[in-house]
Amino acid sequence: MRIGNSVIQKLTNLAKKSDVRSQHAAAILDNKGKIIVSASNYHLHKPYMGAIWKPEGEYTIHAEEAAYMKFIQKYRHLVKAGKSYIMVVIRIQRGGEKCLHSKPCKKCTQKINKLIKKKVISKVYYSVP
Ligand SMILES: [Zn+2]
Repeated sequence: MRIGNSVIQKLTNLAKKSDVRSQHAAAILDNKGKIIVSASNYHLHKPYMGAIWKPEGEYTIHAEEAAYMKFIQKYRHLVKAGKSYIMVVIRIQRGGEKCLHSKPCKKCTQKINKLIKKKVISKVYYSVP
């Protein structure tokens, strides 16, 4: 299946809003290529030194995780329906329009492999420059 330009454009716009240095966005699509959920990566603002919150968290939620969390919160029934979905992950050049390699980290690879095994995700696409 070909990933539509509108999907890439939407993810590019989303990634630009990310507060993480390495800007990523991910989407989960149905088998017709329609976006069900999308999300960028973001910093997690954890309480720091008691009640004081850091303006920028040192923990980041990766785009793949963020998209899947949204998917499972809103569309758990779709997983139960036994269909498989497609994941698209892009990384953009900060301040630019170009895509960069969005190869997943070890943690996301492990999570995604589990989802592939469970047949929740059938395919994953990553951006390349
Ligand atoms: Zn990751």
